[in-house]
Amino acid sequence: MIITLKKGAPKQEIEKLHRHFEDKGLKVSLIYGDNFDVFGLVGDTSRLYDRDILANEWVANVQRVSAPYKLANRMFHPEDTIVDVGGVKIGGTSPIVIMAGPCAVESKEQILRIGQEVKDAGASLLRGGAYKPRTSPYSFQGMGYEGLLALKEAGNAVGLPIVSELMSADKIDEFAENADLVQIGARNMQNFDLLKAVGHMKKPVLLKRGMSATIEDWIMSAEYIMANGNPNVIFCERGIRTFEKYTRNTMDLAVIPILKERTHLPVVIDPSHATGSWSLIEPMALAAVAAGADGLMIEVHDKPEEALSDGAQSLKPEKFHTLIEDCRKVAAAVGREIA
Ligand code: PEP
Ligand code: MN
Repeated sequence: MIITLKKGAPKQEIEKLHRHFEDKGLKVSLIYGDNFDVFGLVGDTSRLYDRDILANEWVANVQRVSAPYKLANRMFHPEDTIVDVGGVKIGGTSPIVIMAGPCAVESKEQILRIGQEVKDAGASLLRGGAYKPRTSPYSFQGMGYEGLLALKEAGNAVGLPIVSELMSADKIDEFAENADLVQIGARNMQNFDLLKAVGHMKKPVLLKRGMSATIEDWIMSAEYIMANGNPNVIFCERGIRTFEKYTRNTMDLAVIPILKERTHLPVVIDPSHATGSWSLIEPMALAAVAAGADGLMIEVHDKPEEALSDGAQSLKPEKFHTLIEDCRKVAAAVGREIA
């Protein structure tokens, strides 16, 4: 970290800062210039927050040389993290994992029926929301605990581990008991109390990108979970808000190589939420596989026009089957396979 002081910074202020940085366990070099003095800090600066340093009236500028995250940082953990989700491995050179199912669990019959369809088509994980974060309070809010139990039952029946969204810490016990992968939704990506709470869980976490989160914000949220004791975090890109209206969100595929360079955690792409349209899912899924995604999350519904949420971005089972077959070809072209 490089800290530039303002011209004429008093000696006692410089000494105070020097001691402060040394107390943080950092190696401190001070370069005296003709116009300003500059501190160079070497060591673990992840516990220093740039804006706190700027609170000193004699500090002109703070520049980070290394990233503010440590546990998620590839530099300190060169090998890929492989996350085990109920026996399914995600990350590294593991086969690409397809998570699929309806946006929401609507009934026991519905999730069992769609669960069987996605299993037959080749999915490795069954998804389904039991607690739904809806923009309108008048929209279907999910079946709650009953929905989670129905998802678990369907997963058991068809032989697939399950993933579902945890919206608040008061439901942690339900998820610890029943979910194989705990999804933190886009709207909760910076709910820090919830991140700390899942940090204490033993279950792996699928961390969706907040709709206006930078990549660094997102990695810092993974760091929250890891700093609280849970190393099993998977990133899930689900599109960000931009000025574009043709798609529900703008799918940011560059996150795959960027996250893989900066972190060691697996990256999953959700083209359903990222585009909002069933017709865009397959091309975007193929692009994600070509770009090195470790997994895909796809919404599938057998009667999209009757779906209680996100029908427009759900594939029918036949189309989902074709998508997997096509993904196999692209995966083979980049030296990978689909689980
Ligand atoms: C979902 O997966 O159904 C969902 C609500 O996702 P997101 O948090 O990405 O909007
Ligand atoms: Mn959805």
